[in-house]
Amino acid sequence: MKFEKHIDLKSAVLQPFRLPGIDESIKFYIKREDKFHPAISGNKWRKLKYNLLEAKEQNKKTLLTFGGAYSNHIYATASAGKIFGFETIGIIRGEEHLPLNPTLTFAKENGMKLVYVSRSEYRRRYDEDYIQEIYNEFGNVYLIPEGGTNLLALKGAAEIVNDIDTGFNYICSACGTGGTLAGIIAGLNGKNYAIGFPVLKGGAFLKENISQLLRDFTGKEYFNWHLETNYHTGGYAKINRELIEFIFEFENLNGVKLDPVYTGKMMYGIYDLALNNRFEKGSTVIAVHTGGLQGIEGMKPKIEKLMNN
Ligand SMILES: *Cc1c(COP(=O)(O)O)cnc(C)c1O
Repeated sequence: MKFEKHIDLKSAVLQPFRLPGIDESIKFYIKREDKFHPAISGNKWRKLKYNLLEAKEQNKKTLLTFGGAYSNHIYATASAGKIFGFETIGIIRGEEHLPLNPTLTFAKENGMKLVYVSRSEYRRRYDEDYIQEIYNEFGNVYLIPEGGTNLLALKGAAEIVNDIDTGFNYICSACGTGGTLAGIIAGLNGKNYAIGFPVLKGGAFLKENISQLLRDFTGKEYFNWHLETNYHTGGYAKINRELIEFIFEFENLNGVKLDPVYTGKMMYGIYDLALNNRFEKGSTVIAVHTGGLQGIEGMKPKIEKLMNN
């Protein structure tokens, strides 16, 4: 598989940015991982890379994975399958709604077979007997967990750190499953400091998941990281006016789009930490733009409703 032909890692530049009302005593850079492919963007590429190589190695023809109807991971996997020569199956949480939303339309157009399962069935996605049922039903597939998070995903996400060519104190990422942050922490290998911003309510549970992923991947315990669990704006894909106004203001200041589900919440969190002097003067903070801009389309009705009220 010729990744370089499709994924332009060099385009993921480190770009300085400003935050409203924050002076220049702290240096902020955004690592533009959203740039290297229009569909397989950001952390979803990082997490897929070694899984694609492993699937090839195992001679698997089909990738099977799980996600919600707006999932960036479903979107990226469909595109990656098409480009790199795999069939794809997406197990989608909930009923089919027609017309399909933009995410699932794209997935389908890229050849993904969409299989809808009830929410209660979807909840079993990590159970061993359920996984066995999946193999029985779909045959010799290469199974990728929800959000793409497994140990090979950590290996890919760790490379984000290698690709940063400046010194820094802090590196920040939005967290869904926490796989990306875990990979980043592994990549740091005890140096610098990582801050994760869970986008789900009650994100503290991620701390143990991330520690476990790190133990499994590196055999080590790391202490140079923590989670900021107060920036979920009410829960997954929940938004408020403050967040949306901040995202627009950030784009006006810096010319960089953020999505309201992941990177917008992370950046709002970084902004709030900066306002509260939580970064020492003279420090350098890197925010990882994990991509996911396709998700904006699906959030538009919610955003319009909120802003017109
Ligand atoms: C999926 C996703 C995340 C969350 O990544 P995890 O590895 O599951 O924590 C963060 N940002 C964006 C844009 C995503 O699409």
